[in-house]
Amino acid sequence: MTEELITIDDLIKKVLSYNPDADVEILRRAYYFSSEAHCSQKRIEGSPYIGHPLAVASILADMKMDTATIAVGLLHDTVEDTGTTAEDISGLFGNDIAFLVEALTKLSRMEFRTKEEAQAENFRKMLLAMSEDVRVMLIKFADRLHNMRTLQHLPENKRQSIASETLDIYAPIANRLGIGWLKIEFEDLSFKFSMPELYKELVRKVTKRKEEQEGYIREVTEIIEKKLKEEGIPGEVSGRVKHYYGIYQKMQRERITFEQIHDVLGLRIITDTKANCYAILGMIHSLWTPIPGRFKDYIGVPKSNMYQSLHTTVIGPKGERVEFQIRTEEMHGIAEEGIASHWRYKEKGELAEKDGRYISWLREIIQAQKEVPDAKEFLEAVKGEVVPEVVYVFTPKGEIKELPMGSTPVDFAYSVHTQVGHRCVGAKVNGRIVPLRYQLRNGDTLEIITSPTHGPSRDWLKFVVTQRAKSRIKQWIKTEERKQSIELGTKLLEGELRRHNLGPSILKSEDMQAVVRAFSMQSFEDLLVSVGYGKVSAHQVVNKLMPEKPAEEIAPKIAKPSKEQKGISIKGIDNVLYHTAECCFPIPGDNLVGFVTRGKGVTIHRGDCKNLERLAVDDARLVDVEWKPGGETTSPARLVVETVDKPGILANLSALISSVNVNISHLEASSTQDKKAHIVFVLEVKDRGQLTNLTQKIAQMEGVLRVKR
Ligand code: MN
Repeated sequence: MTEELITIDDLIKKVLSYNPDADVEILRRAYYFSSEAHCSQKRIEGSPYIGHPLAVASILADMKMDTATIAVGLLHDTVEDTGTTAEDISGLFGNDIAFLVEALTKLSRMEFRTKEEAQAENFRKMLLAMSEDVRVMLIKFADRLHNMRTLQHLPENKRQSIASETLDIYAPIANRLGIGWLKIEFEDLSFKFSMPELYKELVRKVTKRKEEQEGYIREVTEIIEKKLKEEGIPGEVSGRVKHYYGIYQKMQRERITFEQIHDVLGLRIITDTKANCYAILGMIHSLWTPIPGRFKDYIGVPKSNMYQSLHTTVIGPKGERVEFQIRTEEMHGIAEEGIASHWRYKEKGELAEKDGRYISWLREIIQAQKEVPDAKEFLEAVKGEVVPEVVYVFTPKGEIKELPMGSTPVDFAYSVHTQVGHRCVGAKVNGRIVPLRYQLRNGDTLEIITSPTHGPSRDWLKFVVTQRAKSRIKQWIKTEERKQSIELGTKLLEGELRRHNLGPSILKSEDMQAVVRAFSMQSFEDLLVSVGYGKVSAHQVVNKLMPEKPAEEIAPKIAKPSKEQKGISIKGIDNVLYHTAECCFPIPGDNLVGFVTRGKGVTIHRGDCKNLERLAVDDARLVDVEWKPGGETTSPARLVVETVDKPGILANLSALISSVNVNISHLEASSTQDKKAHIVFVLEVKDRGQLTNLTQKIAQMEGVLRVKR
């Protein structure tokens, strides 16, 4: 398949068609410069590289962008891929263009360890770049769009990852910026490449439905056109097809088949004024019966991406459902082009005010980013709130508040003020008490009940949806946990000092400051927190305080709370104070269960530990535990080996164990009356895999009768 190749003359013609005064010279210069710079490069399918910048510039011209933006479309890959420097660009094309090229280069120069990290970082960087100049984003969109349109040239695995990134990052931003056509094209192209079979099937079905209903749609259109003429209302009627990914999402969301979707085909009526939109709505409702619950007034209450339109579904002439969208010319422009419409060449100067709402969204997101340091969490948060559905609720004073769909009274409370959120104990909706997890509905009037002694609960995180509420609650919990850790750390440390006959005054000594530095901590308080969390043991701290003590005297016993208690998380909570149970010696890879002790953190048991049955009496204290893989840390594991009692067997066993690089931290051997040896090892192993391996090797050794954990 060959793509349509665009020439610089085509591009210039396109630009002049909407901007007759365009600075054509700068476009030509940018073109020559770029083709020179890329002259030795080829696109993956073998065509000259310059075809890509030309196509990108052409997409920007379709969006009727200003000349600088289109020039940057031509130049966007020069600094990234060729020997060109930012100085070259600014010298030749001026600062405006150089700034944009540099911003784009920065965007593409990011490298990441994991895919999620990459996505989240990508998202952040784009938002930041965009907040400086929205055109950066628009050029990036055009770049990605051309890459998506030519994605078939890339190998399968690359296609998948680019398609999913487009779906996860680009489409939501395009949607949020109100560029409807772009969101749709991003989604459909991603869909096409990530689920080719499903996509083809859907295209086939939609085409078939279109053919079947063509006559019917024409009939409805004629009735409306006639009626519009009679009433003297201007209106352009056109057919529309829901986009493929939209159909797919609807099928998924509502668990229905294609055949059960009634609004695949619809009609759009574009008129001149808002008043006529409602007049046309009335006309349609008098012609056919509207379906209750399907009427949406996005003119009275626009979506947060500024989308405005009336939607209604009626039972048409043959008893079939027909969906209508009614809007003005101007609303249609906003629905299709969103923020891009403000970057039209001629309107450049008027940006500030018109973009108010898009920009305020951006500001919110960037604010949220500062509060959520974890990349993945941030991405989830932003994606979550990109969904444009909102509910409108009222404060007791009648002020309107916009919140994302699914918001609860807690979200509302935090949107009023952080302190209202923290102190919130209950809520009244329309005068009646509701649970805090109640989902707000349009038009609810909300009153928050607060108590000055109350604080947020971790459970709230399960139902709040706004980023603001989430980050404030987490912040509060973190501060609280730190306080508690300091208390616990202090207690543990004082206890350990007492055992060594040392008074608490040493805590404030210069020696202690040295210990703080030795653990690379910022402050003594941080050290206390680490002790409280169990990252550092009180024992280790005291050990450092008194290095002259003989090592074995204070050396930890076998079942020492394992060296660095990192790597365990309980229900997503990291760094919980824990120790591994001495009855079953759990290791990474085991099925694990945690038991919440009173005051000593969490004990980790193997899921099949006999003691758990006894502990399980108090179900509420058992928690799910996850042992994150990582690092070179080892954990103690016990192996009981039964052998024939014969000299040398212990030495052979030890040699075998060391040969696989496993340390023996403890060993006890005893002989039984029936001439057998019973040996208990405590080994430092990485994980279950390593232990299983070793167990098999031992079992095969001569003289070994039984091996078990
Ligand atoms: Mn590019």
